[in-house]
Amino acid sequence: TYVVTDACIKCKYTDCVEVCPVDCFYEGENMLVINPSECIDCGVCEPECPAEAILPDTEDGLEKWLELNTKYSAEW
Ligand code: SF4
Repeated sequence: TYVVTDACIKCKYTDCVEVCPVDCFYEGENMLVINPSECIDCGVCEPECPAEAILPDTEDGLEKWLELNTKYSAEW
């Protein structure tokens, strides 16, 4: 899955939401999040993010963000 990280906080762009083929972006408290169980790992959103906030969860140190993406997207 891909995860949204802190660079998204207060970002006003929604380019990622528009390109996601499965509509798995949701509104978190002050940022967008990806629902890890819906994300199909296509990677289309990553280069579209002007804040470079979207990263694959295979990168180191993203456990906290994966947790937060899971938590906020589950509230919908
Ligand atoms: Fe959506 Fe693809 Fe990005 Fe996952 S990787 S959030 S499916 S655009």
